[in-house]
Formats: sequence, structure tokens, C-alpha cells
Amino acid sequence: MPERSYPVSRPSIGALEAEYVLDAVQSGWISSIGPYVTRFESDFAAFCETRHAVAVSNGTVALHLAMMAYDIGPGDEVIVPDLSFIATANSVLMAGATPVFCDIEPETLCLDPAALESLITPRTKAVMPVHLYGHPADMPAINAVAARHGLKVIEDAAEAHGAAVLGKPVGGLGDCATFSFYGNKNLTTGEGGMITSDDDAFIARCRVLRDHAMSPTRRYWHEELGYNYRMTNLQAALGCAQLERSEALLEGRRRVFAMYRQRLEGVPGLKLSRTAQWARHAHWLVCVEIEGLDHDRREAFMDRLRARGIDTRPYFYPMSHMPYLTQAATPVASRYAQIGLNLPTYIELEQADIDYICDGLIAETAGLAALA
Ligand SMILES: *Cc1c(COP(=O)(O)O)cnc(C)c1O
Repeated sequence: MPERSYPVSRPSIGALEAEYVLDAVQSGWISSIGPYVTRFESDFAAFCETRHAVAVSNGTVALHLAMMAYDIGPGDEVIVPDLSFIATANSVLMAGATPVFCDIEPETLCLDPAALESLITPRTKAVMPVHLYGHPADMPAINAVAARHGLKVIEDAAEAHGAAVLGKPVGGLGDCATFSFYGNKNLTTGEGGMITSDDDAFIARCRVLRDHAMSPTRRYWHEELGYNYRMTNLQAALGCAQLERSEALLEGRRRVFAMYRQRLEGVPGLKLSRTAQWARHAHWLVCVEIEGLDHDRREAFMDRLRARGIDTRPYFYPMSHMPYLTQAATPVASRYAQIGLNLPTYIELEQADIDYICDGLIAETAGLAALA
């Protein structure tokens, strides 16, 4: 057994969360009506500097609901970056539309605006940039292309609560944005999601579709297909506490990244993720890329780290590689998907922990030649 054990992720749930959740339980408001839902929505809108926020059951249905509210469906195409968690593409399929995979930029690991325009067809309705691993996509450049072609811009900000572009927070950088509050995300409600936007009509439509598309003026009357995508007051209570602590939670991630950078910058064979000069990085998961890895060698490499008690994760596979989604390859996404790893990233990590993890990582990187 290794002397220490580090998971990749661990939520930070404290006394305030316990207090609010207990309060919600004792109040009897345990379903999706209740004061914490309303408060979480308005606090989250303030956090994103948007006019509105709509709480939903998870980040995947947030994306689906946004597309339903924009009437995106069969025959439509939505351009997504090829390197992302599968929910990005699946939500497009759930809407009945077709995801089209765009390559990524090496600097940000996010959708490459220069590769975007050539993928636009008369069927393209939206582009869905993902702020991958906490780094925001190049939104000004993406918005410029989208504006030229009349496309909606839906930010998938599931991994990037607290990130910003030129000082403006993600969530308000496109037509709308979606977030996830899954247990390993920067802020969590266990399971949960949010849609943010400044567009009053769009938000009103999201609210109706979230609640079975029930007519706002005529109870149990439904003019179209809707969904039950509501968040519970219990989840929102957790979310209110997390949001109150968000400054400390995000600062904790920056501190962890700074410790990794101090130990890993300049180590031969190993490259830490980059931050564009216009970006505020939310450091969802610390990223390293190790030259010479491929899928098989990376498995062996991760096994060796696991034997030291260090859990790591591979970068996502390009979504275009999935058997049900096969499309033309995206060379940059394919290359980075083979050499990238996420390191343990949670705010309880101290210098001694980072030293232990980095010592192991540096030793295994040096020994990589022996793995082949
Ligand atoms: C986590 C995640 C989602 C989905 O969120 P869930 O709450 O798990 O449904 C969507 N997109 C990206 C990029 C994610 O990382």
C-alpha cells in the first residue's frame, strides 16, 4: 500500500452547507419550490454578472434545455469543440440535431476560432464553445464569427465557474451559458445545473420548458412538449452555501495550481497547461502533457502513479472518435488527447502533498523510456 492516497477530486463541503441543507430539510421545502432555489438563481446570476439564471437538474439537461428554447432540432447542426466531456455532444443529439466537431487551440485546449468558419453550413444554428478544464474559450473571436453567420453562441461553462475573459466572467459571454454542479465541479450541489443569460424572452421560455411546458397562465395546460428539469430546494441550499464560499473555493484552486507550477515548470518532458494572457483560469483540473505518451503508454504511466497513491485522469477522448459519432479527425485534439493528464486538484492539498505528487510525477516521467 502506498503511504499516501490522493484522489483527482474531492468536494469541499463545510459547516455552512450542512446548516443550509438542514434548514431546507426542516422547512419542509424539499422539492423544487422553495426559497433556496430563488436565492441560488439570483446569487448565481450576480456571480456571472448576467440578468438571469435558471436552476436545473444537471449540466447536461441545461444544454438540452437551452437548445430546446432556441428551437434547435432535427436538420440543424451545432458546432462543438472535439475535446470535451461527452455531454456536450450528447445534448445536441438529445435535441435531435447534429454535432459537428471543431478542432481545438493548443494554448487553451478550447475551440479554435480559426477552424470554426469552414465548418459552418446553411444548417448551422449554433456554436457551443466549452471552457475546458477551467480555461475560457476565446469568446471575442468566436462571437465575431458567430455574428457574421447569425449563429447562437451557447457557452458550455460546466467546468469553469469563476473563469473570465478580459475581466468579464464566463456565463455572460455568449447568448447564454450552462453550468454543472456535479460533485467534482468547482461549485457543487451534488447534481445540478444552471442556465444564465441576459435575454428575457429566452429565459422565460427556459422556465416554461423546465416545468413540463405548463402554461404560465393556465394550470395543467400544455401547448408543447416540456420536461421536468427542475432543481430541488435541497440542492439549491447546498449551492447557496457554495456560492457564499466561492471566493475561497476558487482562490484555493489558484493556490494549488501555483504550487504545481512552482514544482513542475521547466521539468524536461513535461508541460503544464497554459493560460492565455486575456484569460482568468478557473483551474477545474490541473493539466499536464507528457511528451512520448500514447493511449497504451499512458495507461501504464497512470498505473505507476496509482501505485504511489496518486490518482490521475486521462484527458477526454475526442468525441469524434466515439463509435456512434465518427467524423473526420481533428489533429490537434487527437494529439493532446493522447498526452494529457489531470492531476489531483482540490483545495485541501498542502505543499507537502504537492511535493509528494510532483516527486512521483517527475520520477515516472524520467523513467518513461523504460515503459515502451
Ligand atoms: C460535467 C460536464 C457537463 C455535464 O454536466 P452534468 O451535470 O454531469 O450533467 C457538460 N459539459 C461539460 C464540459 C462537463 O464537464
